[in-house]
Amino acid sequence: MRKNTTWDCGRSTADGFALFERTLWQAMRKTAYWLAIDIGGSSVKVALWDGHRLSRVDRTEFGSAIVDGDWIARLLGLKLQAWGDPPIRSAAVGVPSLVDAKHRVVVESANLGWRNYPLASVLRKALRIPVYLETDVLLAARVESALGAGRNSTDFVYINLGTGVSHVRMLRGEPQLGAHGLGTNLGHAPLFSGRNRRARKLCRCDRPYCVETVIGGRVIATALRRWRGGERHRFWREYGENLGIVLSCVTSLLDPERIVLNGGVCASRTLFESSMRAALQRHTAHQGALPKILFSRLGDAAGLVGAGLAAQQRAHE
Ligand SMILES: [Zn+2]
Repeated sequence: MRKNTTWDCGRSTADGFALFERTLWQAMRKTAYWLAIDIGGSSVKVALWDGHRLSRVDRTEFGSAIVDGDWIARLLGLKLQAWGDPPIRSAAVGVPSLVDAKHRVVVESANLGWRNYPLASVLRKALRIPVYLETDVLLAARVESALGAGRNSTDFVYINLGTGVSHVRMLRGEPQLGAHGLGTNLGHAPLFSGRNRRARKLCRCDRPYCVETVIGGRVIATALRRWRGGERHRFWREYGENLGIVLSCVTSLLDPERIVLNGGVCASRTLFESSMRAALQRHTAHQGALPKILFSRLGDAAGLVGAGLAAQQRAHE
């Protein structure tokens, strides 16, 4: 009898709404998520991935503090608790480092001070779910290739401008990492001579002349603390010129169709874009080979979606 059905037994609208809300919550509780984690040189971003979209996107800055897997595990535990302990199938972590994905070890991260660090097993023990590792720029470049500014390009270079500087060349949608899988280290290329005063400082990798010592996020943080007004303006112009030189080197070496820029520094693009483009043009020998320079519109989401997709795909391997 219809009289006995849920919706036809004299419930008020408020009762009906409460039931709807409860049913929806129960359905949501049944949805299992993948945990997307993106560890940068000065922050940890984390989100839930349901196979289609991100939710609960969160960012925690740790600045220049030294962090380890236990600290990250505690942070993730607190976030999950605050989100009502949603069911998690597995997690993928993007780290600013070369990664031995098979053995789930961070091989070396100059920015985090980790060497042969078993991050995946530390997190797996704490969270009690499978945890996969991947180089952060690789996760983001794949998403940029499929959904972002690299879409429909057969040959582009993705560059992340954050605390560190890293890159990936994407050829027909696939990352080209070179003979030893190390082709992501633009930040530690010694492109600048001692005539550039910033390049004389030792990089976090203990070498001078690295790209990161001139255009890395720490240089910007120091400059913004130190300078105001016109001096700040001059810093950004110089920053753009130095970045333009780096892009010109990339162009001369790889002749890409596009260069896609992403990372926290891009939030200040209006301050350095024109000097960057002018320097790229000035320093590139073959003007016909100038690539399109595009800024990512995915921003932080590129790394998190990449981690979410990696966790989802690795679970099926
Ligand atoms: Zn370096």
